[in-house]
Amino acid sequence: MIRIARGDEPPALRRERHKRLAVARLKKLRGGAFSDEDLRGYDVAREALWEAQNRRCAYCETEEDLDEHAVEHFRPKGCAYHRLSEDRTLREDTDSEYAGGYWWLTWSWENLLFSCATCNGRSHKGSLFPIFGDPLAELDTCIDAEQALLIDPTREDPLDLMEWVPREEEVNDEVDYTQWCWIPRPIAPTSHPSGLSPVERANTTIRVFKLDGTRVERISHTIRTMLCGWVKPTLVHLSLGEETRARARWDDLTRWLSTTQHSGACWSALRRLREHQPALRSLSAPPRPGRHDAPPPAAFGGLPPTPPGVSDERWLRQLETNTPTDEQITILSGLGSELSPLCALQDDEARQHEWLTLARGHAGSLDHLTALALWREIAEAPCSDLPPPLVPQEAVALLRQGEAASINEALVLICAGPVPKPWCERTIAPLSGKRWQQFKRYLTHLVNAERLTFLNDCYQTREV
Ligand SMILES: [Zn+2]
Repeated sequence: MIRIARGDEPPALRRERHKRLAVARLKKLRGGAFSDEDLRGYDVAREALWEAQNRRCAYCETEEDLDEHAVEHFRPKGCAYHRLSEDRTLREDTDSEYAGGYWWLTWSWENLLFSCATCNGRSHKGSLFPIFGDPLAELDTCIDAEQALLIDPTREDPLDLMEWVPREEEVNDEVDYTQWCWIPRPIAPTSHPSGLSPVERANTTIRVFKLDGTRVERISHTIRTMLCGWVKPTLVHLSLGEETRARARWDDLTRWLSTTQHSGACWSALRRLREHQPALRSLSAPPRPGRHDAPPPAAFGGLPPTPPGVSDERWLRQLETNTPTDEQITILSGLGSELSPLCALQDDEARQHEWLTLARGHAGSLDHLTALALWREIAEAPCSDLPPPLVPQEAVALLRQGEAASINEALVLICAGPVPKPWCERTIAPLSGKRWQQFKRYLTHLVNAERLTFLNDCYQTREV
């Protein structure tokens, strides 16, 4: 195992999560049970994970094809078994250690990995997820709220906790590599922030994934390739005093190590070999494999927060039926502090005034106006009686043609231009009296009194 960095979450996964998690939560609220079909849709992340993991299984680091293997949930989605028996024979029919799975993390990027069918299978990890203490509360998305015993390769470097070493003490370049295995590194318990024994966590990881069993042969094959292809030739060059050729060979090895499968075991074996081969210590140590350029995730992706003035159920239904765009969600999240005081106002006049001021403040952006229009549609009474932010099609056209830099500017151009009459006929003539009053209040912020009088005259003298 080596350190993994997933990179950015694919937007397709975020959209799946918003929609499917909303559906699942609504189902839970109504007391329904999940079917297999409910917990699907996460497969859109598979290719991105596979690429981020350099096409390797996250656990055994074997190179695998994309099509034949699955997205693995580090915290199992359907059901989870939290306690291991001494011989790791816990099975799904022993119910005392069983807990419902982490269904709400089914589409969370921070919970997904690409893994081979063996590591993910029931004879290996399957639904096992041993923990210390209590499991994460349902819907909790704080990663630190639970102490997992398995090593999460996206949160810490497995090579800090375990190493590939010979079963026998004697080490030389002729050693039988089938006699090597993964063991925990001797680390003091206090050195890990969770307070859990790092040795116990490494031991649990090796047992659950059976890293000391069937994988040894495949790892040994890769290590033999490393020995015969680079280490032995390097040693020969060194023994003949051919420093330059030895370094070139060693550089090749370093490059190979950054791309090969089982690089964690190879790097670990190399570290041990350098300790026992003084000649190799004259060459620089190859860099530790894995990606160390990203901070560990602090929280799992969940649902976008419910905007103020909107009930949870209504927000879930909105996400279920008509998923808002990423822009709208971001804007609504940012508008929370402006919308909350508006919702608290009791007086109709004051609320309308606040709303129009708010709409005017965001009139420079079509995305903001669209987000506000969405909020107005789904907000609970008494906010639903507010006039919608008006975005005339002509203004949008001017904006798209680059003739105006903002909605405000476009409206001023339309309302104050030399021949506003055709626009008046198309846009304001069909409005009802109440709607015209609302629009007029909006225009008050955009045009001068003279122009407003002119527009009002246009409305009053329109042909109905
Ligand atoms: Zn694997």
